[in-house]
Amino acid sequence: MGRRRRRVIKTMKRTLPKVYTCPQCGMASIKVSTKEENLAKIVCGNCGLRYDYPLGVKKHPIDIYNEFVDKFMSGRLVSK
Ligand SMILES: [Zn+2]
Repeated sequence: MGRRRRRVIKTMKRTLPKVYTCPQCGMASIKVSTKEENLAKIVCGNCGLRYDYPLGVKKHPIDIYNEFVDKFMSGRLVSK
């Protein structure tokens, strides 16, 4: 039978940090912290990948994350 389940999407207003997929380990355990005005901190809770992202202007965490992944993928992030 072609019964479809309806998905109920609730919009939750929470202050919990959103997590993003880590480009290194593939787990959704990246957190972007923008508590400091000129610096965003990107940390993976799974593999320990971390990056301090200097902010010239205020950005949304998702934009910071996207730029971070771009840098990571293009090999411009060197972790020593
Ligand atoms: Zn990771």
